[in-house]
Amino acid sequence: MHIYNTISGKKEEFIPVRTGKASIYVCGITAYDYCHVGHARSAIVFDVLVRYLRSLDMEVTFVRNFTDVDDKIINRSIQEGISCSELVSRYIQAFYDDMDQLGVMRADIEPKATEHVKEMLDICRTLIQKQHAYATPSGNVYFRVHSFSSYGKLAGRSLDEMLAGARVTPDEEKEDPLDFALWKAAKPGEPFWESPWGKGRPGWHIECSAMSEKYLPLPLDIHGGGQDLIFPHHENEIAQSEAALDKQFCRYWVHNGFVEINSEKMSKSLNNFKTIREILSSYPPEVLRFFLLTRHYRTPIDFSLGAMEDAEKNLKRLYQGLEAMEIALSKTNWQPGKPDQSQMEEVQKSAQGWKDSMEDDLNTAAAMGYINNLMHQINRVLENKSLNKNEAGRTVLRQSLDLLRRWGDVLGILRRPPAEFLRELKVIGLKRKEIDSDKVEALLEKRREARKAGDFACSDAIRDELFGMGVELRDTPQGTLWDLS
Ligand SMILES: [Zn+2]
Repeated sequence: MHIYNTISGKKEEFIPVRTGKASIYVCGITAYDYCHVGHARSAIVFDVLVRYLRSLDMEVTFVRNFTDVDDKIINRSIQEGISCSELVSRYIQAFYDDMDQLGVMRADIEPKATEHVKEMLDICRTLIQKQHAYATPSGNVYFRVHSFSSYGKLAGRSLDEMLAGARVTPDEEKEDPLDFALWKAAKPGEPFWESPWGKGRPGWHIECSAMSEKYLPLPLDIHGGGQDLIFPHHENEIAQSEAALDKQFCRYWVHNGFVEINSEKMSKSLNNFKTIREILSSYPPEVLRFFLLTRHYRTPIDFSLGAMEDAEKNLKRLYQGLEAMEIALSKTNWQPGKPDQSQMEEVQKSAQGWKDSMEDDLNTAAAMGYINNLMHQINRVLENKSLNKNEAGRTVLRQSLDLLRRWGDVLGILRRPPAEFLRELKVIGLKRKEIDSDKVEALLEKRREARKAGDFACSDAIRDELFGMGVELRDTPQGTLWDLS
């Protein structure tokens, strides 16, 4: 597999340090609020990466942390009048609720910063001993950026460029404006830990150095996160870890692009975000997951309700195809017949195309194209009167179904019973269009009775009334089916 490595600026073949085993560390959330769609993207991208590597029989150890001490957490807890730990546990639970719905697996290890203060203090002490850090009279500890000659290698910027770009507030305690805090002296009322430099709390960057080193062998194979973490967070992690341990920190740096709204990054600070739970009140979670995988993970993705509706339509079509395949395969009156060579070749081509796409820097957008190709092929079989009755068609359908299930497991989609998903789609669609589902049910029942009684004028009137509400009927030998028009 090839993966784009931010530090080299190139796609590189992914070769883990230990054959067959991959160690992955991804920066998790700061637990002070509900997650928005940007968080969902990052979580889903790395979830798919882990699932894909595991599908190749790689033994993956995946660590994703929770930041549970931070300025934002402290401020929010004061605002809400609750303790930091109460606030944090509320939002970690909310994170799990959202991610479970989106089908994001738990990481193997999910460490919290506050449970690793000892390890962070150890790194601070080592860095001070090695002259890479210094403590100030007020009890702060800073990393001495100029002492680490390759600082800037991840972001690809020189010290001068960083200095020009950094929003550095003048601070007479720092030797240099670029120096960053490893340890912060506690202000009154803040949570604190004892340290050799007085009461204080860790800076943000140090937690990931401490926790990745504790749970994974260095160098890490993959360190991931959103593009906004490249600088300064990940740059600082490299500086801390490599200066303290004198070895390479991580081999492949993988960063996902932003979710945008009207071409601006979706973020808390711009206040243009949609929380995951807001979206899930109007769309099934799988639609959001599907939508986020329709673009390559490094390109920005523009979020809009129109784009969500397109994603919903496409996903619905795939589930309808799955349902039709399952129904066809459940029939027993298949006639003998040899698979058509060109049909089988098409299936093979899709399988190869899917694999090539995933191997090419986890290109889920292209991989989705092969799902559509395969579904197109399947529909041709289903519509072909002779093929859908003989063993040739059945072989194509079986192989295709098997492929779709395997691909679905990697992408975390198409894993539900089609009938159940399609029903959920209708129910949530009614809700979104503010159509009263009880009224729809009552009208359908009334129409069934009218048809039974042979009152077709009444039955047609009800059909029109439903159509006016946005519900379309289709009478089939199996009964009346309805859908949103
Ligand atoms: Zn981190």
